[in-house]
Amino acid sequence: MEKLKIVIVGYGGMGSFHAQLIKNSLEVEVHGIFDISETRQQNAVENGLTVYGSLEQVLADEIVDVILIATPNDTHKVISIQALQAGKHVICEKPVTLNSIDFVEIMEIAKQTNRVFMVHQNRRWDSDFQMIKDLYETRKLGDVFQIESRVQGANGIPGDWRHLKEQGGGMLLDWGVHLLDQLLDLVDSPLVKIAADLSYVLGDEVDDGFISYLTFENGVKAIVEVGTTNYVKLPRWYVKGTTGTAIIHDWDLKGEIVKQSNVEFVVAPKPIKAGEGLTKTMAPPSEESVIREIFEEVEMNSDSFYTNFAKVIAGEADPIVKNEEVYRVMKVIEAIFKAAEIGNSIDLMELQLH
Ligand code: NAD
Repeated sequence: MEKLKIVIVGYGGMGSFHAQLIKNSLEVEVHGIFDISETRQQNAVENGLTVYGSLEQVLADEIVDVILIATPNDTHKVISIQALQAGKHVICEKPVTLNSIDFVEIMEIAKQTNRVFMVHQNRRWDSDFQMIKDLYETRKLGDVFQIESRVQGANGIPGDWRHLKEQGGGMLLDWGVHLLDQLLDLVDSPLVKIAADLSYVLGDEVDDGFISYLTFENGVKAIVEVGTTNYVKLPRWYVKGTTGTAIIHDWDLKGEIVKQSNVEFVVAPKPIKAGEGLTKTMAPPSEESVIREIFEEVEMNSDSFYTNFAKVIAGEADPIVKNEEVYRVMKVIEAIFKAAEIGNSIDLMELQLH
């Protein structure tokens, strides 16, 4: 199969990362780039890439099959529509657009033009997420009833445009998109309620973090939290089920699963001295009553993002990241903004997300 020719529009941090990753692909190749910044154009030339002079030139080039959009968030919509109307397939970075209505417009044009449009929700492939997914699906903790998913740093909001509302800045539209996409992929049940609080500690016009509480119809409750003012982090994942608890600390994937060994032979925990008092309630479970397992990485048996994209174009596979799923995440993000604004929880049944 001849490789699909991709032009990357926006050769910044993520655009150049795509160029690196695509080098390993058997199905797609980078044919060139377009970026409005002369510095980035120069960097591309130094990396041996063809640089187009304008987006119009890219779109008019019949040899180009795919436009990969890695520009600031507010430009995704217009470039996507132009690319689809020029007959190109599109890979668009997350967040697909700044709101769900704009995304509906793109989906309609993709349908009319019969082109493939896929959003790069790459964190579905993250090892830590795959480990949690495996834990959830294999019911290693019994029935999971609480999921806490967090990313935290102490470096504030990075870069320039991410500080601006007009450009789709802020952490909910940045990391929030990834964590919510993972959560909705994990829990196969309608979302019924959301409460949220956005953080503006750094004084930007956009959120520098947020905390959201999500309730699913099947009873699972989740906390999704992003912070950029955390000098000490909480764990990446903390999951509770009816027969155990699991933790993944960080990107190094170190973690632990602690679960009941055999309920019939539970050995009562010994009371411990806690501060100036004594407690049995908060004592760790007796070692005889629990099994401790090291979290193992799971083998992923799905195609990479780019392979799947190429197969979708060839009509050989369904998209792993479906546009309906991306739409649902955008609706949830809108509900989080709303819940934070009104200071109250939102009943999601009204949003008809199901
Ligand atoms: P960046 O600022 O590093 O790069 C953006 C580039 O786009 C810059 O080089 C800029 O000159 C160029 N640009 C701006 N407007 C343009 C236009 N109209 N036409 C052509 N080029 C234009 O930003 P980034 O961190 O690379 O983020 C880019 C996109 O990638 C964002 O949507 C972001 O959310 C996404 N992203 C995704 C991931 C992921 O893991 N999926 C990670 C980082 C960023």
